[in-house]
Amino acid sequence: MATDTLSAPMLGEASRTRVLKNFIDGEWVEASTGETFEDRNPADTREVVGIFQKSGRQDVEDAVQAARRAFTKWRLVPAPRRAEIVYAAAEILLERKEEYARDMTREMGKILKETRGDVQEAIDTAYYMAGEGRRMFGPTTPSELPNKFAMAVRQPLGVCAMITPWNFPMAIPSWKLLPAIVCGNTCVIKPAQDTPLSTFNLVRTLTDAGVPKGVINIVTGFGSALGSPLTEHPEIRAVSLTGSSEVGRIVGTAAAQSFKHCSLELGGKNPMIVLDDANLDLALEGALWGAFGTTGQRCTATSRIIVQKGVYGQFAHRLVERAKALKIGNGLDEAVDMGPAINEAQLNTDLKYVDIGKAEGAKLLCGGNRLDGGEYKHGWFMEPTVFGEVAPKMRIAQEEIFGPVVSLIPCDSLEEAIPIANDIPYGLSSALYTRDVNKAFSAMRDLYAGITYINAPTIGAEVHLPFGGVKATGNGHREGGIGAIDFYTEWKAVYVDYSDRLQRAQIDRPE
Ligand code: NAD
Repeated sequence: MATDTLSAPMLGEASRTRVLKNFIDGEWVEASTGETFEDRNPADTREVVGIFQKSGRQDVEDAVQAARRAFTKWRLVPAPRRAEIVYAAAEILLERKEEYARDMTREMGKILKETRGDVQEAIDTAYYMAGEGRRMFGPTTPSELPNKFAMAVRQPLGVCAMITPWNFPMAIPSWKLLPAIVCGNTCVIKPAQDTPLSTFNLVRTLTDAGVPKGVINIVTGFGSALGSPLTEHPEIRAVSLTGSSEVGRIVGTAAAQSFKHCSLELGGKNPMIVLDDANLDLALEGALWGAFGTTGQRCTATSRIIVQKGVYGQFAHRLVERAKALKIGNGLDEAVDMGPAINEAQLNTDLKYVDIGKAEGAKLLCGGNRLDGGEYKHGWFMEPTVFGEVAPKMRIAQEEIFGPVVSLIPCDSLEEAIPIANDIPYGLSSALYTRDVNKAFSAMRDLYAGITYINAPTIGAEVHLPFGGVKATGNGHREGGIGAIDFYTEWKAVYVDYSDRLQRAQIDRPE
């Protein structure tokens, strides 16, 4: 078996099984546990995409110490210089886009069109964050005292931990790592156990672009073993998690004990409202893409479609016809529209919710079955599933399924649709299809979510705008845009007194 080293050329897909070690202090090292785990292709589980280290507490410790040492130098590299490295990484990623997209499709199943988009998102983030290296603006402001200068500067935090999910295995690590290092922090990242390869591809690129040793360290393994070491470590100053709300609660609670900065980007149950006056063809395209893109495994997936009664019947009928016509299969086939579930557990969850929906009295309009014959024999495939006549309080309309299962909820008006849309534990994305500008602006104001789209589905965020949600979707931070710079820096107020005498703020006031 081949063992990757930093200088080894990338191996072509399916050529041989890669064994990837942890990346700590610029070296590829085995886990202290001596154990490994397999990363298998969910479209064909006979294929082992890579073998990774099943790390433990000691590996986190080694990575944190490497990051701590690197921080002493990295924080002093001027931000524009740090940003130039990130810009160079963007250029390299562009060259490797196709190769990394194919790796990603094999690793987690989504179709090539989407994995190319995932790599592109990392490229966009790199260009954007490279620009931030020459901004990172802080205010200068008049002092209340004479001969005194006042300003606020951004400072890096130190060692940051990143814990990432499998559904955007390069884009999400890029949202965290790139602003963190441009701001002068050093990092320890633990990618999801289902998708470590794409994170390796990103970090390899950054290293090739010139990120010095110890600035980014990767420790692979399971959340159950690595969660506590990462979230409780006294020398880690910030934790950024993207994952389920359940894990978010654990991470947030642990991080609070040592007062770490903590960013939680969590689950969603995203509504799309379709009004009678909507362009129905457009709404259908959006619904298909929003509900079944990434096999419904997006935090922003369209999982509830609230349809006004005047078009409900027509919309439901046409959506079902289109869903049935989707081609399911291995995402490496360019003709395929929807890939597999990420793993057996996720597929079982999807099927369980089909049973729950039926038991609750929702009408199964199409799908609901596992696909396991013929070409599907070795993968975790399922039919695109549409439930009709769903009541807003049913579990299938309230709980995040994270699969290709969408609920249609009839409604009488926008006034009725808005509370249905809002009345869930989550608040990530939302969408409205209408041609009425007044209704559009009302919805923009009243939908309680971190993101609202008008005449577009609930998915499709761009990297320079704030990304995140309300309620159980997060804890108030935003990734993307300037919010990321805010998270990875600490403000320091600086006063320079050139009066040559003691001047007391609030006390020495001019008469
Ligand atoms: P998950 O919560 O199971 O895992 C996320 C990460 O947390 C993984 O790396 C996992 O190993 C780690 N983890 C697990 N237990 C842990 C613990 N006790 N302590 C610390 N880390 C632990 O989520 P997932 O299945 O990988 O991803 C799907 C979830 O992520 C969905 O709920 C989805 O909505 C959410 N998500 C949210 C966003 C967003 O930006 N809001 C984006 C993508 C995915």
